[in-house]
Amino acid sequence: MKCSMCGREIMNPGANYCDYCGTPVGDVTYQAEQVQPQQTGEVKRDKVPMLWYLGVMCLPLVPMVGSIAYLVMLFFWAFAPSIEDSRKSWARAALIYTGITLVLGIVLCIAIFSFAMSAASSFM
Ligand SMILES: [Zn+2]
Repeated sequence: MKCSMCGREIMNPGANYCDYCGTPVGDVTYQAEQVQPQQTGEVKRDKVPMLWYLGVMCLPLVPMVGSIAYLVMLFFWAFAPSIEDSRKSWARAALIYTGITLVLGIVLCIAIFSFAMSAASSFM
């Protein structure tokens, strides 16, 4: 079997990609579709990589959609029955923490706003 891109001989007859240039060889799309469900089924639910948590925790840093996605993610983790206990309790703690900071932020905004209003009205 020869690579259609670089013309070199591919030694492995079962290879999906050329060893030299990475060009797909043969009926690749069909094989890729078959492999995918197997891979996701093998992923263990209770093994959550550290980077996953980091990624979720960094979500609020993304403007607009980030904080919404973060809250949706936390709600899903906190209440979905398929989530294991350790991640569930983390999500619940993070939700409570987010709620506290949200309430504190709103209270602070109201305090600043009312202060500014009273300061403005004293000039009239
Ligand atoms: Zn090639």
